[in-house]
Formats: sequence, structure tokens, C-alpha cells
Amino acid sequence: MDGLYLGLDLGGTKVAVAVGDDEGNLRGKAVQPTPQGDGEAVLAGLLGAADAACRDAGCRLDQVKAAGVGAPGPLDLGRGIVLKAPNLPSVSGFPLREKLAEGLKVPVFMDNDANVAALGEHRLGGGRGYRDLIYITVSTGVGGGLILGGQLYRGRGAAGEIGHLIVQIDGPLCSCGNHGCLEAVASGTAMAKAAEAELAAGEGKSSLLANGRPATGATVGEAAQAGDPLAGKLVARAGAFLGVALADLVNLLDPELILIGGGVSRLGDLLLDPARAEMAGRTLGGRTCPVRVAALGGMVGAVGALVLAMDGLAG
Ligand SMILES: [Zn+2]
Repeated sequence: MDGLYLGLDLGGTKVAVAVGDDEGNLRGKAVQPTPQGDGEAVLAGLLGAADAACRDAGCRLDQVKAAGVGAPGPLDLGRGIVLKAPNLPSVSGFPLREKLAEGLKVPVFMDNDANVAALGEHRLGGGRGYRDLIYITVSTGVGGGLILGGQLYRGRGAAGEIGHLIVQIDGPLCSCGNHGCLEAVASGTAMAKAAEAELAAGEGKSSLLANGRPATGATVGEAAQAGDPLAGKLVARAGAFLGVALADLVNLLDPELILIGGGVSRLGDLLLDPARAEMAGRTLGGRTCPVRVAALGGMVGAVGALVLAMDGLAG
């Protein structure tokens, strides 16, 4: 079993690691909670998960040729450092790539998590065979990756920040400090905030009030799926804002396919039908594009990191 690669996905709540071969077949995996503590603790957690994934694959760590890692951005790709990770402050400034390379004793290639996910969907997921593809993750935040002409498009390093496309002038404050970004109106976090505001304003009939706890993106989604009118309205509104951004992307890039991943994408057509309708109504000449739920689910980051490792070594 030669020609093995590791893909590591470092998230705010979990680390996922995949082991794959030269042909992109998944041989093993491990998913563990992200350790609390400093950068060294997070590193130890990643190395432990890599060991567990190798055991799952029936291989040894010394059979691995290269590793890829997807990390929350923004990153300094030249130095392999996470610059600022709001959901994972312990790794901000930590030389993650170098430390992983020391620990794994193989070359390590790094990129931001959304770019890595776009690579995974393009090569081993729902985007296989497409040349121009946009991947958008909608979860606690919103991220994106652009595959243009069959390649990941990085711009000068920071391209694909679809979550910070502005879709509502003077809209809600975003985590980036701007107002009205897609992330501030269409993420799970944004849906939860909107639910709290509506409930505080006297929308008293929603099932969201039943458990007495603050709404989350997950509880809003579950209530919408159960037919709660307020939650349904909030999901449809988030979908419509997503559709505004999709119209901009279609007008700008005319892609063949748009894939939506992340936890909120599990709502499927409850989210995507309003997005498709809004997109179709706002593109030039009614131009459209297929919009589908991404294929790789929770392992998209780790699988994409495998592709990053293979591409990196192929150079
Ligand atoms: Zn923003």
C-alpha cells in the first residue's frame, strides 16, 4: 500500500483526518473534538487524529508521502501561519504548517478551509468533471472557493471570500466589521439572531419559544423542517439573500455549477429553492446555473486536504 496521503481538516469544534491513495480512494478516517488549549495542544490533537486515521486505514504514518491541511482563515500561505481565526483563537499566529511537517515527517501543504473544500468537491465530490465551479459553505459563517478553468482560483491569496459579498447595504453587522455581508444575513448564526429579534418583537406563536433557550442555527433549521412558520420565513429569507449573492456570482463568472455545503445546506430545498428563485430573477437576461447541495458532507475538508496534498507533491 504505497502512495498514501493524509488530509487534515482543522475546525473550531472538530478535527477530521482522511487517508487516501494515489487514485483518491478513501482508505481510512478519524473525527475527534478540537482540543482546547494553545497551538501545541491543537497540534497534538491533529497528530493524534492522524494516527487514528492511519490505524483505521490499516497503515502506518511512515507510509504517508505528504499531507494537506485546511485551516480557518485568513492565512499567511507563504509562512504557513493562521493569522486570525475567530472560531479558533488558540492557533492565531501559530506556525501550523511547519509544526505539522515536523510532527508527521512529510511535506505539508496548507490552504484555507473553504478553498480546500472546493478542491475536494471538484475532484472527488459533486463537482467532478466541471471546469468552472463555485463552492459555498453555509454554517456558523459563510465561506467560498472558486474553481475556474479546472483550477482553484486564489487571486493574490484571498479570493473566494463569498461570505463577505455585500448583499444588503446598511444590513446587520458582520464578524468582519462591515455591514450587510452575506455571512451576516444568511449564516446559521445570522438566522439565530434574526429569530431572537423576531421573538423579542412579539412573534409569540413560534415553536422556537418552546424550550426557553436562545435560538441557534440548528434549532431554527429543525423548526423550519417541522413546518414552523416563523422559522420557515427566516430560512427562506436567508435563502433569498444567498440567491442575491448567487446572481452576482453568475453575472460575474458564469459558472457551470454552484455547490452549497456546510451545516445549513442540510436544509436542502427549504434553503435552495428561495435562493434559486432570487438568483433567476436577478441575473442578466435570466441566465441561470444549477445550484445543488454538495456531496461530501462533513468529510469535505479532510477529503479536499487529501487533494491538496496530492497536488502539492505533484507540484
Ligand atoms: Zn463580512
